[in-house]
Amino acid sequence: MTKRELIFEGNEKQVFSTDIPDQVIFRYKDVMVAYNNVKRARFAGKGALNNQISAILLNYLNENGVETHYIKTLGEKEQLCRMIEIIPLQVVVHNRIAGSLAYRLGVQEGFSHPNTVVDLRYNNDDLDDPLINRDHAVALGLASYQELDEMYNSARRANDLLKPLFHKAGIELVDMKIEFGRAADTGAIIISDEISPDTCRLWDEATGERLDKDRFRLDLSRVVESYSAVLERLNKVISK
Ligand code: 5GP
Repeated sequence: MTKRELIFEGNEKQVFSTDIPDQVIFRYKDVMVAYNNVKRARFAGKGALNNQISAILLNYLNENGVETHYIKTLGEKEQLCRMIEIIPLQVVVHNRIAGSLAYRLGVQEGFSHPNTVVDLRYNNDDLDDPLINRDHAVALGLASYQELDEMYNSARRANDLLKPLFHKAGIELVDMKIEFGRAADTGAIIISDEISPDTCRLWDEATGERLDKDRFRLDLSRVVESYSAVLERLNKVISK
């Protein structure tokens, strides 16, 4: 398989076309951004860590019946993925209230609730990724009601699979952001972006320590070390 031209460049990854129809190469960069690109830094090794963590999680979902774009890992920072048509929405699943939702609802970070809370956001930097509802998404022509149902179901199933997986690694999956696309080969709605400490809140169950991008957002130290601990613990669980 041959890598062809760069077809997309984001802050934290690049996507290249290949000579295989409907398959692309996802390359994870060592860059980290936060607060709608206001904060930016380079962390050597971060791309390789997210490539591996995302591969474990996406592969686990594929194997357990939740379709994602991941096909296989190609190298330190690269994975082969199914080509998709991007749906500019973010589905955010919360097992505890933290971050911007805690602020919005006026509760303390870590607020515990009995239900799983699912939010929908419009992936639009100019508008700061606002919370929207299903009617807004359909009104803007971003997805149909049926596609939204599929996205919500898939996000909930992904959460039901990944929460216990992280728990086995002594990590609490507090929340996670999932993006979807329409697969170029089948048209199915599939999970289409990374799932990693960049897109999840992950708290150490024993110490409460944050092991995710909040370390960067909040100017805590040991960002790469925390990502590395997540990978090491997941690898132990997966290899059992
Ligand atoms: P919050 O709304 O508190 O910023 O984020 C909720 C969850 O979704 C967190 O796990 C956060 O990392 C993830 N998330 C929300 N928006 C984005 C985004 O634009 N980029 C990334 N990488 N993660 C996001």
